[in-house]
Amino acid sequence: MTTRQKILSELGRQTEPWDVLVIGGGATGLGAAVEAAARGYRTLLVERADFAKETSSRSTKLVHGGVRYLEQMNFTLVLDALRERGHMLRNAPHLVHDLSFVVPAYSYFSLPYYGMGLKLYERLSGKLSFGRSELLSRKDALERLPGVKSEGLRGGILYHDGQFDDARYAIALLRTLQDLGGTAINYVEATGLIERGGKIAGIRAHDCEEDAEFDVMARAVINACGVHVEDTLALDGRPRGSLLAISQGSHFVLPRSFLPGNTALMIPKTSDGRVLFAIPWHGALVVGTTDVPVDKTSPEPRALPEEKQFLGETIARYFGHAPRGDEILSVWSGLRPLVRKGNAKTSKLSRDHTILVAPSGLITVTGGKWTTYRRMGQDTIDRAAQVAELPKRPSTTLDLKLHGWAANPTDANSAWETIYGSDLPALQALSDQEPALDAFLHPRLPFRRREVVWAARYEMARTVEDVLARRTRALFLDARAAIEAAPAVAGILARELHRCDSWKENDLLSFQETAKGYLYEE
Ligand SMILES: Cc1cc2nc3c(=O)[nH]c(=O)nc-3n(C[C@H](O)[C@H](O)[C@H](O)COP(=O)(O)OP(=O)(O)OC[C@H]3O[C@@H](n4cnc5c(N)ncnc54)[C@H](O)[C@@H]3O)c2cc1C
Repeated sequence: MTTRQKILSELGRQTEPWDVLVIGGGATGLGAAVEAAARGYRTLLVERADFAKETSSRSTKLVHGGVRYLEQMNFTLVLDALRERGHMLRNAPHLVHDLSFVVPAYSYFSLPYYGMGLKLYERLSGKLSFGRSELLSRKDALERLPGVKSEGLRGGILYHDGQFDDARYAIALLRTLQDLGGTAINYVEATGLIERGGKIAGIRAHDCEEDAEFDVMARAVINACGVHVEDTLALDGRPRGSLLAISQGSHFVLPRSFLPGNTALMIPKTSDGRVLFAIPWHGALVVGTTDVPVDKTSPEPRALPEEKQFLGETIARYFGHAPRGDEILSVWSGLRPLVRKGNAKTSKLSRDHTILVAPSGLITVTGGKWTTYRRMGQDTIDRAAQVAELPKRPSTTLDLKLHGWAANPTDANSAWETIYGSDLPALQALSDQEPALDAFLHPRLPFRRREVVWAARYEMARTVEDVLARRTRALFLDARAAIEAAPAVAGILARELHRCDSWKENDLLSFQETAKGYLYEE
């Protein structure tokens, strides 16, 4: 029996309702589930696609207080997020690290203006500071940012912030939830709500792999469906359209030659008044993001022509030339679930989170940022415990080390491998048993065949896309290389999951179709 079959058969045998049932396996849902399980509540999470399939794998990869929220004078959000940033680094040092950023100053006025702002940012982080901010001379700024336009450059401001791998962090949360005795299953959708006496009592679930329906009963049900929270609220009778404003953000991934070195570039005000980053990530350079209101959701949003034009023009302005099509290694977009406030522009909407309790007792949590996922989980489970009258227990997640945490980082052959933390020796041992698994999946990618086996056995990967998009980050780093690596991944996965040839072909085709959307097109 596979792990998935075991979980499904356990679900079928449950007679006692779960204490907490979370719908949605992104940052918000996984954070709430870990919070509940850490308090000792019997916890189940269902995700209709893969964990972090939607927004939570498409962030700009920053663990940050949000410099731009300082300009909006939202000090509470910045303070809370800076505190969370510090704890994310302590609790998951294999996934989060300090990164130096430089703001290039092209006017003498911007040096003291941004210099003071970033000093305040550093001070607000207090004991959890990632490092001192400094004013840089023109020469030092250029040394830190080789490749950036030198004409008119007066100097720069150096500051520190956090960087992470969002989808891998989601997998670490999944494994932590399991370590705590919680249960999570992907490819199971909540298609209906079960109410008893007007109160929420569970969900109707659909197993998307086997096309089977079943009921799951729970004392507290949490709606953590990201940009889809209003669909779940509609199942509870609330009309759609009043809660969320959805905004799309897109990124280009470029070769590191655009910005060699280990420092990120932060542009505090682009031509449309946004903050834009160019950040080294797993050997490539991520440039983003945009902020465009959209009225439709999609699990695979595509960059709009105006976003591509804006990114190309901004890159040209700061790096001297726009990237050629073949230099854009991957293009990806995500949708922000922002809580609506009148007709305010999406870029001005708060990144604070919101928790709603419906008359039925359904708890909805939305908004927020990846960086504040733990705090969102804590607040949500406080409300859930009240609403469902669960025994009151304090939060323990602030200092909870995530799965993979290691006091001394283990021997990694590459920077990429450090993300496995304390699991790395066991992962490496797979190739001792089968040396062919040591081979790389593709000459341009840092991922090895053994990671496919690991993902299938221990990380609930079910498809080629799960492996290439979220267990490894191939699709986000180099879409062409990911497409070329896909047949090898399909072969290993089919063997691990006991799948037949037609499954392999269909899954490969489905991946190729999705992956085409990450290739740059004019
Ligand atoms: C472009 C962009 C850049 C960002 N950059 C940063 C950043 O650098 N740092 C930062 O801190 N934050 C950042 N954010 C914000 C952060 O990514 C989001 O706040 C966070 O990922 C939202 O997570 P979520 O779990 O609420 O949503 P999601 O990740 O979308 O998860 C919701 C999940 O619910 C599932 N689901 C929906 N309906 C059902 C159902 N009926 N049954 C079962 N499952 C269901 C979906 O499949 C999905 O996986 C960024 C956001 C965007 C869009």
